Amino acid sequence: AKQPYDGQNIFARILRGELPAKTVMESEHSLAFHDIQPLAPIHVLVIPKGEYVSWDDFTASASEAEICDFVRTIGEVARMTGADTQGYRILSNVGKRGGQEVPHLHVHVFGGQPLGPMLQ
Ligand code: 5GP
Repeated sequence: AKQPYDGQNIFARILRGELPAKTVMESEHSLAFHDIQPLAPIHVLVIPKGEYVSWDDFTASASEAEICDFVRTIGEVARMTGADTQGYRILSNVGKRGGQEVPHLHVHVFGGQPLGPMLQ
């Protein structure tokens, strides 16, 4: 179901260029940038440009092009950062109880160090 979207969330403001971000890559439907408080040597956030809060929201409402672009961007970030040569982790927190602080769908890409059983 389409969830109400807060257009003032931090990632919405980054997408509009109102807040700066260190971009790793940008594609037609996705943006990847470094996390402001990295928990690993490589810690990149990948977001769809569309206004989606959760995976349910995204997979129910986004076009195949948006979904394909998002998944591909995650893989490209792993390659571009070198994370893929050493092993890495992708993680997505969803909902308050899932640890989601920013209500715009995002995937964390962690790498650059041996990763324990959990990270964030
Ligand atoms: P969540 O807990 O919602 O899965 O993760 C949100 C992430 O966004 C956190 O890792 C946090 O450090 C990051 N973050 C919060 N505000 C900003 C910001 O203004 N810029 C960037 N680049 N990252 C941010």
